[in-house]
Amino acid sequence: MTSISGKTDIDWDAFASELASVETLSEPAQVKKRSRDFFWYSPILNAQLKRSFGDLVALPSTREELAHCLATAYAHDAPIVLRGGGTGNYGQAVPLDGGLIIQTTKMDRIVEIGDGFVCAEAGCRIADVNDALIAHGRELVMFPSTQNIATLGGFVAGGSSGIGSVSDGMLRDPGNLIAHKVMSVEATPRERMFEGADVNHIHHAWGLNGVITEVTMRTVPTCAWIGCMATFDTYGQTYAAGYALACASDIKRRLVSTVDARIADYFPHLEGHVQKGRHLMVSLVPAEHMQVYRNLVANHGGTVDLAMSEAELKANGLPHVFEFSYNHTTLQVLKADRSATYLQVGCPVPPDRDRIEALRPKLGDDVWMHHEFALLDGNVVSFDLPIVWFTTAKRLHEIEATYEAAGFPISDAHTCRVEGGGLKNADYRHLAWKKRMDPKGLLNSAKSREWANVKHLTSEEIEAKIGR
Ligand SMILES: Cc1cc2nc3c(=O)[nH]c(=O)nc-3n(C[C@H](O)[C@H](O)[C@H](O)COP(=O)(O)OP(=O)(O)OC[C@H]3O[C@@H](n4cnc5c(N)ncnc54)[C@H](O)[C@@H]3O)c2cc1C
Repeated sequence: MTSISGKTDIDWDAFASELASVETLSEPAQVKKRSRDFFWYSPILNAQLKRSFGDLVALPSTREELAHCLATAYAHDAPIVLRGGGTGNYGQAVPLDGGLIIQTTKMDRIVEIGDGFVCAEAGCRIADVNDALIAHGRELVMFPSTQNIATLGGFVAGGSSGIGSVSDGMLRDPGNLIAHKVMSVEATPRERMFEGADVNHIHHAWGLNGVITEVTMRTVPTCAWIGCMATFDTYGQTYAAGYALACASDIKRRLVSTVDARIADYFPHLEGHVQKGRHLMVSLVPAEHMQVYRNLVANHGGTVDLAMSEAELKANGLPHVFEFSYNHTTLQVLKADRSATYLQVGCPVPPDRDRIEALRPKLGDDVWMHHEFALLDGNVVSFDLPIVWFTTAKRLHEIEATYEAAGFPISDAHTCRVEGGGLKNADYRHLAWKKRMDPKGLLNSAKSREWANVKHLTSEEIEAKIGR
């Protein structure tokens, strides 16, 4: 079989035969489908990545099968990209060098639900983990709005925060990720346990420094969450209400998002449920705190247009409210118009309504704000995931410059290199572990700009660069 990617000279038919009992997919259409993620959110990434494909997909269902795939790739020097649900936004799961795609979704066993934790295989769909936890009165400490598709391993390797972050911080914060098991890429792959603070050696490294096989994550008590949509006349009021809710000592919350009215008008599901033309606050609040929540909204000049339990949302044909938050907000707009894109922007701490209001007119009509509130290092913060109506890369950079000039730092959402986004700089701790776990540099190496500069060093030499 010739290489689909055009980037390898491996005999992929022979390779597939060597994988023996492991299920594989080699039809070009199937391989190409599994070579994509949600990079098309960015017109810049779309142009760069839409023709990058892998050569063969393997779907191991046990650790033994996974180890066999990794050992075979090691023997052939085959590039490898791990794939969970394929919901990453930056092309994290796109095989830039071609090669083997290992899809983990058949490794989906829940291993143990214990006191305050769940341990599950990396390919477990996150919604399945949450469904299993409900019977125990618990839920994951946080989860992405993509829980219906995304896997636990993909969230740990590619994600950072989500529903729950407004009360429990980031994934990387102590205690949220309890442990994970990670397999190396060697002639005989070994599994290694990372616990406590060491989980961050692997977390958010985009699968370039080891294959996560099992994740142990903190759980929290679940309750009768009410999905709420409140509307306001001005975005300033909405943002101030969001900040107040994120700080409230008398209201529990799992989600606080504020959305510009022009974005909210792109949510057809909400027609008849939420007043049109008004700015929106999306939240998850427990039933017993609804009265205090209603008072908070009224005190900020808003009205509660929708308040429904999970069952009521379902009965009304409505999705989870978190499908109007995080990067789902962008998706709702993209469903109607592919010329939209987005940015990722930090905001001054503490959140400041006046600075948001002062910035809005400077940005122009092609930028529509959307903020998520979260806990970061114990402080309530907000970050902006605005819709941007894309015209040219030049205009996009102009918008970024306007944000930065006003003191709102940009994390590049339009790069497929791990150093370009939230990390900004090379993470030498990640790269040192890559050297240990993936000595030949087969795992998703093209996603690190810095790897090429350090791959000839020992792991200790790479580690010595930390903080320099
Ligand atoms: C609509 C939308 C909403 C989103 N909302 C959120 C959100 O709320 N919070 C958030 O953090 N992110 C969010 N994201 C980004 C993305 O959904 C999350 O990062 C998600 O958890 C990724 O899981 P996945 O299984 O789809 O991973 P994939 O996209 O398959 O993979 C992500 C990265 O992890 C690597 N990887 C996958 N499995 C493994 C493994 N077992 N071992 C090692 N590496 C592995 C891949 O190679 C890739 O680099 C959103 C994206 C979209 C499109």
